[in-house]
Amino acid sequence: MTIWNLGSINADHVYAVPHIAAPGETLAASALNRGLGGKGANMSVAAARAGARVEHLGAVGTDGGWMVARLESYGVSCTHVQRREGPSGHAIIAVDAEGENAITLWPGANREIDLDVVKRALEQAKQGDILVAQNETNGQVEAAALARARGLTVAYAAAPFEAEAVRAVLGHLDFLVLNEIEARQLSEALGTPVERLEVPNVVVTLGARGCDWIETASGARHHVDAPKVEAVDTTGAGDTFTGYLIAGLAEGRPMRQALERASRAGAIKVGRRGAADAIPTAEEVDRAAL
Ligand code: ADP
Repeated sequence: MTIWNLGSINADHVYAVPHIAAPGETLAASALNRGLGGKGANMSVAAARAGARVEHLGAVGTDGGWMVARLESYGVSCTHVQRREGPSGHAIIAVDAEGENAITLWPGANREIDLDVVKRALEQAKQGDILVAQNETNGQVEAAALARARGLTVAYAAAPFEAEAVRAVLGHLDFLVLNEIEARQLSEALGTPVERLEVPNVVVTLGARGCDWIETASGARHHVDAPKVEAVDTTGAGDTFTGYLIAGLAEGRPMRQALERASRAGAIKVGRRGAADAIPTAEEVDRAAL
């Protein structure tokens, strides 16, 4: 079984600064770290590290060769990753001594994905494969509709949150994953509690408090606690969680077991600095004393 991930690939440039720059101010940073990020790349890495076969569908710019190589080094297949003219998606992240940050994001190639290439790739997908998408690319609705029509299971992480993006894709989903702020925003925008959405499975992540899984057909709500850890960097916690969850489903694990493993992976991630490069391996997740 294969996970097809239509997802963003970003270069994260993280600058250590004495404070967040004020308007008009120029600041010298004391350190620069360049890492792999983007919600899509993070999810692909998490799912691959969990043991799943992952085909990433996305695009990088002319400067993105190292990101494709990095994804491949984590076991993510990039056969269908497109190369576009111009820059890759990237984030300029300033972090001050207190951990406060200010981020400028350029979507770049992530919003210029050629949908014909995505469609041709999905023609190779088998019934029972899983498509996952987030809101950092173009083409989410088209890909979800096509995947559903081909008998794939479709999962969507509603981040970065935009009510209209969720509304457009909602009718094609089997799984919707969102954090509690996004869940509140969505129910306000739609005028419907998430328990009543037309998506069979809704997973609401609650940070250190774990997550809730709602089966909307019956309204049943199941809670899974998160392990207690010292959080040093919550970047990519949700992506790690979702990648592990989808990988668990691809392996045929029961939902509760997939959620518990995803929670362990998310908890380990928040104890480490970085995005994709800090996502734990299956062995780390299964062996950690949490
Ligand atoms: P997002 O990063 O999308 O805002 P959350 O913060 O809800 O998502 O985190 C996703 C999951 O990661 C949580 O459901 C939980 O399992 C795990 N997690 C996040 N923060 C912590 C934390 N401080 N301690 C333990 N687990 C955490």
